[in-house]
Amino acid sequence: MGTIYGGYMGRVVLIDLSTEEVQEYPWNDRERELFIGGKTMADKILYDNLRGTETAFSEDNLVVISTGPLTGTGAPSSGRFNISGISPQTGHIGTSNCGGSFGYYLKRAGIDAIILKGKCKEHTWIEINNGTFLFHNADEDGLWGLLATPTQERLHEILAGKGKTRHGQIVIGPAGENLVLYSSVISDERAGGRTGMGANLGWKNIKGIVAYGNHQFHIHNPEKVKQWNAKWFDYLRNHPLTGNQLPRLGTAGLVSSMQMRGMLSTKNYTYGQYDDFDMVNGETLAEEHNIVNKGCLTCPIKCARTVRVKGKEVKGPELETLGLLGGGILNNDLQKIHDWNNELDELGMDTISCASTVAFAMEANEKGLWDNGLEFGKTDGLSKLFEDIAYRRGLGDELANGSRKCAEKYGGLDFAIQSKGLELAAYEPRRAVGQGLGYAVSNRGGCHLNGGYLVILEGLGLFTNPLTPHAKPDFTMLFQDLMETISASGQCLFTSYAFFPGFLITRPNGLITRIFNFAIPFIGGVLRLINKFPTVLALHLPVFHHTKEMELAIGMPMKFGTYIRCGERGYTLERALDCKFGISAKDDTLPKKLTDIPQDPNNPKTKVPLERMKKTYYRARGWDQNGVPTQKTLKKLGIIA
Ligand code: SF4
Repeated sequence: MGTIYGGYMGRVVLIDLSTEEVQEYPWNDRERELFIGGKTMADKILYDNLRGTETAFSEDNLVVISTGPLTGTGAPSSGRFNISGISPQTGHIGTSNCGGSFGYYLKRAGIDAIILKGKCKEHTWIEINNGTFLFHNADEDGLWGLLATPTQERLHEILAGKGKTRHGQIVIGPAGENLVLYSSVISDERAGGRTGMGANLGWKNIKGIVAYGNHQFHIHNPEKVKQWNAKWFDYLRNHPLTGNQLPRLGTAGLVSSMQMRGMLSTKNYTYGQYDDFDMVNGETLAEEHNIVNKGCLTCPIKCARTVRVKGKEVKGPELETLGLLGGGILNNDLQKIHDWNNELDELGMDTISCASTVAFAMEANEKGLWDNGLEFGKTDGLSKLFEDIAYRRGLGDELANGSRKCAEKYGGLDFAIQSKGLELAAYEPRRAVGQGLGYAVSNRGGCHLNGGYLVILEGLGLFTNPLTPHAKPDFTMLFQDLMETISASGQCLFTSYAFFPGFLITRPNGLITRIFNFAIPFIGGVLRLINKFPTVLALHLPVFHHTKEMELAIGMPMKFGTYIRCGERGYTLERALDCKFGISAKDDTLPKKLTDIPQDPNNPKTKVPLERMKKTYYRARGWDQNGVPTQKTLKKLGIIA
């Protein structure tokens, strides 16, 4: 064991796919303290090894698949792993987080992270058996060309033939094989969908990776962890968001709230409300379609739905998919969304980017820029179109490049709903301007989560004024930093949903809630101080169980302020890495449709006042006005010496 800390397996491995050589990658306890694991660990590895001149589809691109110290330890919602590399979709750093069982089994194989460099000479799948690596021909084993589920079934069959029945795997579908720029990786029924990591594996000729082993998890203080976890599980089960809304309705439950607040992207973000929303919302899904709730490993929240598609029980759609394949293209047929969601997972494509690219093409056609035959509300033939995208046939070949590249060719950048090449989720930011800032500055491109998820304050949990820019940059930084460490530790971001005391959610009209909501825009100064000097908060917060979990399970000193600082370090490190690839303030943008055209023509405030918020945000982060972290900030955070 190469570490004094619990949770970690103490081993990081670099695999040269071109030569099939495997070597140890040095990773010490100081790096564990500074960069924790998961996404932040991947960022550090990429920062140290990439110059900024590499491209996604090149042997120099590294793909890092990493776990967090809590992955598989039994902490709530901790069965997560991360996959990062240069994104073929955006051209800079891409990351995706997934809840399938691969992370747990990678650790059972005795490994915290693998780094893939080079390219396999032939179509390959990799078997990691207790830390040893075997390379197999994916054509001879009948894997290349299969959809995601048949690929996993075939792998189970092969492994069962060797007497191995307990393992985790990641695979790609045909989209990844055909280098669709927004291809996903699939593990069990969960998808790491964003930023095209499936295409990176496809380019490297990897169809799948299987891991298994019998390494045991070392927990720093097992008795106390058991008690703490029991308490935390209870807390999550009793919180109105994590114990009621998410289990009852899944993320789909947000559709109705978004409709009410004008935040439901409709007709490619032309409107914020969809007349037929109640035909495609969480309530209808729960009452008429949901068979059973499912969840990732060790998750008490169980936000996943199960629905029927062609007689089979499959994973149901998330809110983003419902929004973008519902109102986003003016489709009110929920069963069709289930079918498409399943097809996209099987083909191995990100539902958000795919849906948004199709919506862009519909609007471009409507505006006479691109005669492609696609129309809002006309949904017959979309299954065939998705297949054409995955196999890069005809129109599908163009749509496989995402909305930004299509707009660069045909025009319409003002309504290509993306930032830095990554399509936005279904939350309409003209009615939640803090979320608009988050989308724009998000390191991986237009991502609601990486952007700080301010919609939780702006109407989907609390009800602070969604149109004011005041304090939003400071909240954006705080939430981004908190979520960065949650992700790095191997936990699901939904555990942060319980951060606000339950009564603020259940009693929206209570006096304290109203004071809280009213006060939020005025506490930017206080937040700025917390963001600047977080380590003065050398305590555990009763509503935030993550810090004590880190101390008890890992044995790493971790108070609330240290936790925030770790997140800040991770976020800034990722930005510094993006800057190597030329990212700066000029890229932290939104399409003009969201910044220049009010959603409500009678209310000029219903657009995102982006430039104003960006300046405050950069200042708060210690980045210069061009959005580049200063040397002083990088030194302060221990990113450079
Ligand atoms: S909350 Fe949902 S996404 Fe997160 S770990 Fe649980 S089941 Fe998975």
